[in-house]
Amino acid sequence: MSQVLRGIGVSPGAASGPVVRLAPPPPDPDPGPSGGVPAQDTARAVGALAEVARLLRARGEAAGGGAEDVLEATAMMAEDPELAARVEALVGEGRTAARAVHEALVEFAESLRAVGGYLGERVADLEDVRMRAVALLTGAPMPGVPTLARPSVLVARDLAPADTAVLDPARVLGFVTELGTPTSHTAILAKQLGIPAVVGCPGAAALADGVTVAVDGSAGEVTVDPPAATLARVAARSATRAVTDADTGPGRTADGLPVALLVNVGTVADARAAATVPSEGVGLFRTEMLYLSRHTPPPVSVQVEAYRAVLDAFAGRKVVIRTLDAGADKPLPFLDQGDEANPALGVRGLRVARRRPELLDDQLAAIAEAAAGREAQAWVMAPMVSTPAEASTFVERARAAGLPTVGAMIEVPAAALHASRLLRHCDFVSLGTNDLAQYCLAADRMQGALADLLDIWQPAPLELIAMTADAGRLANRPVGVCGEAAGDPLMALVLVGLGVTSLSMAPASLPLVRRALATHTVAECQAMAGAAREADDPAAARDAVRQLASPELL
Ligand code: PEP
Ligand code: MG
Repeated sequence: MSQVLRGIGVSPGAASGPVVRLAPPPPDPDPGPSGGVPAQDTARAVGALAEVARLLRARGEAAGGGAEDVLEATAMMAEDPELAARVEALVGEGRTAARAVHEALVEFAESLRAVGGYLGERVADLEDVRMRAVALLTGAPMPGVPTLARPSVLVARDLAPADTAVLDPARVLGFVTELGTPTSHTAILAKQLGIPAVVGCPGAAALADGVTVAVDGSAGEVTVDPPAATLARVAARSATRAVTDADTGPGRTADGLPVALLVNVGTVADARAAATVPSEGVGLFRTEMLYLSRHTPPPVSVQVEAYRAVLDAFAGRKVVIRTLDAGADKPLPFLDQGDEANPALGVRGLRVARRRPELLDDQLAAIAEAAAGREAQAWVMAPMVSTPAEASTFVERARAAGLPTVGAMIEVPAAALHASRLLRHCDFVSLGTNDLAQYCLAADRMQGALADLLDIWQPAPLELIAMTADAGRLANRPVGVCGEAAGDPLMALVLVGLGVTSLSMAPASLPLVRRALATHTVAECQAMAGAAREADDPAAARDAVRQLASPELL
């Protein structure tokens, strides 16, 4: 009997194969006492951390692209002088080298977890450093991905970014983890590699080595001992993927309606890698990565250099630059936002400019300077716009900085309800479906346990998208989608049916979405949109739309 496990699909596509489980973490080192010479134990411990940093950097260099940045950030955590000082203090209290490293990293992980949000998600990175250093110091097998004798589906409690970055898509057909959320580094890297992945999947850790599973990285489903019909569907989708990888033209429906296909990027390295993938430009440049690891705001000159590098990577194409989206899941050390009981409802996104207007004005000036004389078209948009007045003020300031094409993200239900009023001021709007689902369903997007509510196939956010698209049509202005929903081929058809004019996604999602559009007419997309809107819940909506989709998408 087959069994279906449900999690969060974070990297689209489907695959089936035998399960291979990740090597377990090394056992926690004995609490001691050490009995060694403290100076020598400290040197061994710090040396092991330095070796872990070296290993991570070597993996990053081998993987390249966004993985290099992610692993560099983790390597820097291993070399943090505060960590070394804590290790030294613990050795001074009588711990062994391994135990001191273990305890210090557990403490650091706890404090990151307490901060929560984006930093809380980095706990997995610290755990990875801890397990590798402890393995080095105790002689335990290095945890991580084993050498795969045949193409397999990797299953783990969690997968560290260092492991994800070096996965070979030829050998790793897909992966499933019990922990993890859509915004974890592991999820982001999986998408970049184009490996179908499901995270936050309860029951995954109990899967036995060798059992066959089918992984659906779009629907977030893992079928254990799949029936022949499921295996055939997976094979058909893999074959489609091979075909679609060869398609490179601009996005359009089967009957020729253009739908711009764009990529989401977060760093210069991401942008350079994404620029090699056929697309019509960048639909979302998340600029906060420039601010996240700093203790003071990035100077205008540093920003100009980064924006220019991204614009130059996309010369001749469009780049939609989103102004700083700090706060809530992306806290910035230098913002000093004090205690907020509900950070997701607090001073985040564009609201930060109420307290720190100079941050926005500096950023707009830097974007304008970077865009001057470049061959890419720089569009700019603000995150978390809630009212027409906020949209109007943002547009005025961006135009005053010399930026001609200015828009707002639609992430707050109030903005969707008044999209037509926002469009009196904005040249375009872009739907951030991740936050739109969070605020529409009042479900924290960092809570894996609420994944069912955060599902963009829920009827209520679909209505908000429909209202926004209608407003765009009436105003004759573009309405894009740059949240994760755009990269789901079936949802992409629904979005086009609702009237969305561009879709921006992780580069690896582009081929399947391009193919889905090319094989369906506008009328078919509209029928799918109608069917999705009529359904009472996400499962019924998906089923209704699948019935109308061409078989290769199923
Ligand atoms: C969104 O909310 O859908 C979005 C694209 O922005 P972010 O995920 O960066 O909040
Ligand atoms: Mg958002």
